[in-house]
Amino acid sequence: MVTIEEAHKIIKDQKIRLKTETRRLSDCLGFSISEELNAPFDMPSFDNSAMDGYALCGISQEYIIVGEVAAGDKKQFELKEGEAVRIFTGAKVPENTSAVMMQEKTSVAGNKLSLEQMPKEGQSIRRKGEELTKGQLVFEKGTTITPAGIGLIGSLGIQKVEVFRKPVINLITTGNELIEPGKPKAEGQIYESNSYALASACEQFGFKCGNKKQIEDDFEAIKLGIKKSLETTDVLILSGGISVGDYDYVKQALEENGVKEKFYKVFQKPGKPLYFGRKSEQFVFALPGNPASSLSCFYVYVLPFLYQLSGSAKNGLQRYSFPISHDFANKGDRPSFLKAKISNGIVEILDGQGSSMILSMAHGNALAFIDAETSHKKGEMVECLLIS
Ligand code: AMP
Ligand code: MG
Repeated sequence: MVTIEEAHKIIKDQKIRLKTETRRLSDCLGFSISEELNAPFDMPSFDNSAMDGYALCGISQEYIIVGEVAAGDKKQFELKEGEAVRIFTGAKVPENTSAVMMQEKTSVAGNKLSLEQMPKEGQSIRRKGEELTKGQLVFEKGTTITPAGIGLIGSLGIQKVEVFRKPVINLITTGNELIEPGKPKAEGQIYESNSYALASACEQFGFKCGNKKQIEDDFEAIKLGIKKSLETTDVLILSGGISVGDYDYVKQALEENGVKEKFYKVFQKPGKPLYFGRKSEQFVFALPGNPASSLSCFYVYVLPFLYQLSGSAKNGLQRYSFPISHDFANKGDRPSFLKAKISNGIVEILDGQGSSMILSMAHGNALAFIDAETSHKKGEMVECLLIS
């Protein structure tokens, strides 16, 4: 048995060979950049107008209009003192432009332009390189690419991006009692739901679950299922069969497949019978079958590791502290991740904390962490992991 901190450290300390790939810009969302990205040119790459209006040469209130320049125009103007050109947002400003005046502050009679106010030197001109200069660091290695990041990379003219490959994840659920949702349920059966919850938890954070398999509590079948799955996976997630029951074959089946245990059992509630192991470059999490335990363990342990494997600087769920809405005592001897709901900046510990109970988790949006034998008075701060 290890503590929560020890389990995290064991996971974090795994030596991993990160793999990279080249992806098209449009397929990079949520991937982490695998090499530093520097600006290939100044941005903007030419002085341009921030407004629809007039580009002015010299500072005065009267000008002669000598032409027009629109966004994308290639023509070159060279203005002389007292001259102006009609200009539009994004258009390259002519040589010798002192300022741009927005059209709302102007009036035109023939080729004569009058301004309502004196222009200020340089106003409404977006200067070459004011956002980025050539060679400037745009992204550090490991930065996760957001929609704005995609926009920025595109604006630098880059279409192929070097990123860390995301892990291939396989999922095996075990249990004789489990039946596929949608099928009629016989006495003693329950619907298999963990694979749906776990696969969608992967998806929620930008990871894809490849292969899903349901196996009965049969040692040979589980052993074979693990063997096959390990051939195609970076991370194998198992659910159920890892506890101490007579039909809990997962641990032994992993051993017989050459998976080396890194830890088994974590001093926590829920999710005590959590297993983490490794075979060469493949990693295995065997999660307890109880629905709330398996999903909690995913959020607390598997997710940080998926980020780690994908070269991300993120290390799991976001953590914030919130004042608690009521007195609460964790009388148990294990630190607990409690199903909780944050609303209006206050956290409430929900009813229905049993490991098998998923209702409170489905209604909640956080896991509140409360240490063993610890009481909190209403209004005291409690650390929360945000699950949605
Ligand atoms: P186990 O960890 O196999 O002892 O299972 C613990 C509890 O979780 C039992 O009540 C199982 O029926 C339930 N359980 C196990 N696997 C699943 C699953 N995939 N979906 C829903 N419930 C499950
Ligand atoms: Mg079972």
